[in-house]
Amino acid sequence: MHVFQEISPLKAFLHQKKREGKRIGFVPTMGALHQGHISLINASTEYNDITVCSIYVNPTQFNNPSDLKKYPRTLAADKAMLEDAGCQVLFCPDNTVMYPVETTLQLHFGRLEKTMEGKHRQGHFNGVGLVVSKLLHIVEPDAAYFGQKDLQQYLIIRQMVQELFFPIALVCCPIIREPDGLAMSSRNVRLSKTARKKATQLYQSLSEARALFIEGRASVGQIKKYVGQKLTNQTDLVLEYFEIVDAHNLLPITKTYKTDQVAFCIAAEVGGIRLIDNLFLNEAIHI
Ligand code: AMP
Repeated sequence: MHVFQEISPLKAFLHQKKREGKRIGFVPTMGALHQGHISLINASTEYNDITVCSIYVNPTQFNNPSDLKKYPRTLAADKAMLEDAGCQVLFCPDNTVMYPVETTLQLHFGRLEKTMEGKHRQGHFNGVGLVVSKLLHIVEPDAAYFGQKDLQQYLIIRQMVQELFFPIALVCCPIIREPDGLAMSSRNVRLSKTARKKATQLYQSLSEARALFIEGRASVGQIKKYVGQKLTNQTDLVLEYFEIVDAHNLLPITKTYKTDQVAFCIAAEVGGIRLIDNLFLNEAIHI
């Protein structure tokens, strides 16, 4: 695997590959890789000649300094996983490479960021938009791969790519889970033993909500209330939000009408670690 920390040599390498007619796939990550990330690498290697993975813990998307400080960093293990998965290029810049001048640009995503993560993490999507646009300009991929795990992030990047004419195909890949249903996340390694057990309640609640929705006897309000009550008054679990939304635009769903496009989305702090997860009503929908 070719490893680059600087922009110019990476660009020179990729431009040469483009001249040779190679198709470039790109997987941006913050490292501490797990099988969820590797599923994106696999999706990219299947359809592209060269897969580029970036590992960069982007400070501008963290609204909580202690979360940034404690974010797991496991570069040596990450490199080994990427090699095993057949990733050809790793880009792992530092802050001076990614932010050589003070950033004055502010990105706003309108209605899409007024809910869920945008509402609870001030400035988060400005940071995500900044770093993803920088990375897309650096790598200039034919296709970029993102996880459904960060549904709102994917929709915001999709909007940015459309509005700014990035000539890039975006692919949203399904969530990879632990055997007990917990969505894989780099933050899971920070969960204590008891918090790790508690964390399964997120997926369980999403599954219950989906089952109730499909059954059609409870209203959306009743389902939200049920999940809210189930997850409140617990030690070590603080529910931030549970929303039932249109998977394409995140507008609230108000009726249990039959449509495929529904997403159940949740965020909670479990033992002090912030986790998010979501479930589509119909796992087969394409967004
Ligand atoms: P991160 O390193 O957390 O910024 O994630 C990098 C990419 O991996 C994002 O597009 C995530 O949505 C995706 N991702 C994270 N966890 C999972 C998972 N459990 N399954 C699939 N994709 C994931």
